[in-house]
Amino acid sequence: ADVHVAFIGLGHMGGPMAGNLVTAGVRVTGYDVVPAAVEAARATGVVIAEDIPSAVREADVVLTMLPSGAHVHEVYRGSDADPSGGALTAAREGTIFLDCSTIDVAEAQQAAEMAVQAGFTAADAPVSGGVVGAEAGTLAFMVGGTDKTFAAVHPLLDIMGARIVHCGGPGMGQAAKICNNMLLGVTMIGAAEAFVLGERLGLEHQALFDVISQASGQCWAVTTNCPVPGPVPSSPANRDYQPGFATALMSKDLGLAAQALEATGSAAPMGALAHQIYREFAATDGAHRDFSAIIHELREN
Ligand code: NAD
Repeated sequence: ADVHVAFIGLGHMGGPMAGNLVTAGVRVTGYDVVPAAVEAARATGVVIAEDIPSAVREADVVLTMLPSGAHVHEVYRGSDADPSGGALTAAREGTIFLDCSTIDVAEAQQAAEMAVQAGFTAADAPVSGGVVGAEAGTLAFMVGGTDKTFAAVHPLLDIMGARIVHCGGPGMGQAAKICNNMLLGVTMIGAAEAFVLGERLGLEHQALFDVISQASGQCWAVTTNCPVPGPVPSSPANRDYQPGFATALMSKDLGLAAQALEATGSAAPMGALAHQIYREFAATDGAHRDFSAIIHELREN
């Protein structure tokens, strides 16, 4: 494909995603503010730009993979601290703004609106699958945008991912992601509670797993990411809870869900409690452990 992508944000996720685009023959111009990220991306064949305007000037797609909505807005609009300017003033006509970061739904919709106001099209396409999925090109993309924009970005997402779902208009990719992860946060705590109660009752982990995995409590938190070592050899519990999906990221996503709950006036007592539990765990040494390590907190109480 002779498509040209400007890739802004070459971190843990963006770096390998950009590398997979290069491998597939896509022309990728990258930009990041951290020298180590820049050098790692350069080694995979990404052409490094000096600033955002020179990264995006000839791009067909401006792909962002940044920590938060504030970063996305700043890259689009430019910041006072950086006189080189933002992506929206430098991009050429017809460019698609594709944000793959995980950000607040309202901020995603604002970002899309900024792009549309400037005469461009935009979509949000947050991912799940983590660094492993980014490296393997097996990410799941949840896309919010028009049918036309979805069709236009699909071939690119296909290179970086294995599952691509069009969730609706702008912001609906982020909406799907936080709803899924809110459920995941709740089910992991529930799974951990069940294993701890079983322990106290004298029930073997394997016996409880054999029941749950074939019964109505069946869920990903048990059958794939089992919080106790043994029943699922590939689960993080078997490697001292190395992530996997780090607690810090679960806490971030539950914070985004909390913002959306507030913005919509929704009640979600379980989601809100999961947010509190993971936020507290993320303030300890739990931050960089897999989120299934929450079982240790529950055992202590
Ligand atoms: P990261 O911190 O490793 O990467 C973000 C990169 O953005 C960094 O290299 C940083 O220097 C760069 N950056 C910040 N401001 C910038 C600016 N103004 N211009 C250019 N670059 C800038 O984070 P990550 O793990 O790659 O995650 C990126 C996004 O993907 C986040 O929104 C995260 O929530 C989401 N996500 C991460 C995972 C995961 O497992 N790591 C999984 C799913 C989704």
